[in-house]
Formats: sequence, C-alpha cells, structure tokens
Amino acid sequence: MTEIRELLLSRIRDVADYPEPGVMFKDITPLLADPAAFTVLTDALAEIATRHGATKVVGLEARGFILGAPVAVRAGLGFIPVRKAGKLPGATLAQTYDLEYGSAEIEVHAEDLSSEDRILVVDDVLATGGTAEASIQLIRRAGAQVAGVAVLMELGFLGGRGRLEPALSGAPLEALLQI
Ligand code: AMP
Repeated sequence: MTEIRELLLSRIRDVADYPEPGVMFKDITPLLADPAAFTVLTDALAEIATRHGATKVVGLEARGFILGAPVAVRAGLGFIPVRKAGKLPGATLAQTYDLEYGSAEIEVHAEDLSSEDRILVVDDVLATGGTAEASIQLIRRAGAQVAGVAVLMELGFLGGRGRLEPALSGAPLEALLQI
C-alpha cells in the first residue's frame, strides 16, 4: 500500500451498526478535519479528473459535495450538484432507483449539463452502486458524456462495480481505497 493510501485509510473511522444494525459506516469526518489528508485526497481525485479529460465534476449529495467541490476547483473545472429530489429550484431531470427497501430519486439542473461536457462523478463511498448508476443515467439522459466515476472507497463485497459496469459502458471506475 502506498503512503497516500495508508494516510487516507488511517483517517477513516469505522462505526459499527450505523445507521442501522449490520452496517459498518465509513466515517470520513476525521479525514476532512485533517488538512494534510484532505489535501492529498483532493489532489488524487483531481488528478483522476484531469487524466480522464473531464470538463465538469458531479458531486453526489451529501458527502460527494464536500469532496467534489474542492476537486473541481483544484482541476479547474465546474461543479454540478446531484441532489435528492425536491432540493433544486430550477428545471430538473430526475432519476429513480431501487434501494433494498423502496426507492429513491435524485435530480440535477438540466441546464447544467450539455453535450459538450465530459463528467467525472465523485462520491466518498461506492456501496451497492445504485446512486452512482442513477447519476450516470441522469448524465447520459442530459446528453453529456461520462468521463468516469471516482470514489475515495469501494466496498467491494457489495458488488457495486459489477452493477455499474453496464451503465459505465467502458468509462473507468477509480477507487483510491478498496475494502
Ligand atoms: P450505494 O448507492 O449503495 O452505492 O450507496 C452509496 C451512498 O451511500 C454513498 O453516497 C455513500 O455516501 C453512502 N454509503 C453507503 N454505504 C456506506 C457506508 N458503509 N459507509 C458510509 N457511507 C455509505
């Protein structure tokens, strides 16, 4: 493991049985509170954005906002929030996706995305891949291209990578840490 990965991993706190029994929550607040680690993380994700020729960064609510915004600034790109339904004031595109129990809906301002854009989707954790998959579908429906998905951490045992593959259709999924 590289020094960077060791530093990042050391700043993520495992919280058992949160928000419900059986879930090991990956808490990134210690990482955010450490300026050296937060800078290393921002730089690593910005390098991915540049390497894949992204023109804008999409951050997924809520921790994808915290990571995606500095990544966009660092890489010299625009930032677009993908929000839970009902939070954006303008004309939106919406995408529904299945959860273990029930479903969820995310939205983006339609005018933020154009056919010229290549989007890097940023989030903290890839779990089942449902949220990232829905965001890719939104981006494609808006006519923009997907440069890739970049996350701090992939929970491999939940199979998100496999679920995302068809939607990615060749675009990369990069995880700085694999659990
Ligand atoms: P999923 O759609 O299942 O890939 O879930 C991804 C979203 O849920 C991400 O935005 C994560 O922030 C959050 N999430 C899912 N599982 C965890 C976990 N074990 N620890 C922290 N965040 C999680």
